[in-house]
Amino acid sequence: MAADNFQSNMVLETTPSGDEQPKRLLIDCGSDARHSLRKLGCMPNDFEAVYISHLHSDHIGGLEWMALANYFIFDGHRVDLITARELIEPLWEHSLRGGLETSDHGNSTLSSYFDVIALEPEDGFEWQGLKFDVIPAAHVVTEEKTMFSFALFGHAKDKSFFLTTDAIFDPDAHMPFYKKADIIFQDCELGPRRSGVHAHYDQLVTLPAEVKAKMWLYHYQAYDKPDAKADGFCGFISPEQSFDLG
Ligand SMILES: [Zn+2]
Ligand SMILES: [Zn+2]
Repeated sequence: MAADNFQSNMVLETTPSGDEQPKRLLIDCGSDARHSLRKLGCMPNDFEAVYISHLHSDHIGGLEWMALANYFIFDGHRVDLITARELIEPLWEHSLRGGLETSDHGNSTLSSYFDVIALEPEDGFEWQGLKFDVIPAAHVVTEEKTMFSFALFGHAKDKSFFLTTDAIFDPDAHMPFYKKADIIFQDCELGPRRSGVHAHYDQLVTLPAEVKAKMWLYHYQAYDKPDAKADGFCGFISPEQSFDLG
């Protein structure tokens, strides 16, 4: 069961040569982050940067805690907040402003807490010498509009990886990234009720064998997991599992 699982957030750690202190990028900061990071032994000031893929609370709900903890407890430690330009205003206006506008003065903004880096997705970004492509992935598709999550294709030292963040099953759009990645981190919905906003296990199992053979699945719903290895996947990611990307 996955009821004790944390939300789909990841820590990317790199140690630039000649620098013995690892640098950390938090990829999404959901409302579980205070507890999940504590289990990893990380505090909010252990991060140089946080990347936000989209505005669901399991990806942004920990930002208020991170902002206030760094501002008041960790001597104003500054974290780069890296996200697509189009998310910045709604992130502040619709999600964070209520809790963060009034701190030790009454007109705080996102920049009072974070060094905001607004991305043009087509340009990607670089962090600690690692290159990232940013891929708008359809996540919630309605008649009125489509909500995208900004997936990542990362070029680590030896390996490339594709991280879907949250996305519908969209093999046409994702196949080029599935094919060229050395390792795939794929969100995977389980259970009988399909939300329609994540790839479901029953869909992912139809992917070509060579794609599944490098695909790790993640999600945090409390359903029994199928035997993913028997179906050709690498398996389901468990909390605190780490991967060496070279
Ligand atoms: Zn989502
Ligand atoms: Zn999510």
